[in-house]
Amino acid sequence: MPNRIRNRRISQLPPMEGYKPFGVPMRDLESVTMFYEEYEAIRLADYEDLSQLEAAERMNISRPTFTRLYDKARKKISKAFVEGKAIIIKGGTYETDDYWYKCDDCKETISTLKPLTQCRNCESDNITLLNEQQRRHKGRGRMRNQK
Ligand SMILES: [Zn+2]
Repeated sequence: MPNRIRNRRISQLPPMEGYKPFGVPMRDLESVTMFYEEYEAIRLADYEDLSQLEAAERMNISRPTFTRLYDKARKKISKAFVEGKAIIIKGGTYETDDYWYKCDDCKETISTLKPLTQCRNCESDNITLLNEQQRRHKGRGRMRNQK
């Protein structure tokens, strides 16, 4: 499958859905979409200080692919920072070992190996599976759920 995009392995869910700048009126606020795998690239290279080779291995991708991902993530951050845009973290081409939920009541994010029916924090059943698309399409090759 020559054009298949291999899933990028992600080991940690971001603790937020994104960022908003101060001092920009909501009506003027535009946003940049950052994919989960781009967030992961920043986390591994800049936060955990891994080399690009080590980070690529963690994500189960080649080093050149990692470099492209990382460069894209940096571009998006600098664009948001310089142009005063919000960053929304969602979507992409990735896989995880676990289920990611967000509680719509207490806003807790939960990462779990088994499916949940209620929030572990407040027991609300008002929870959203964040990586449903990705799990549903797992193993079926190319998947992009960017919007
Ligand atoms: Zn909750």
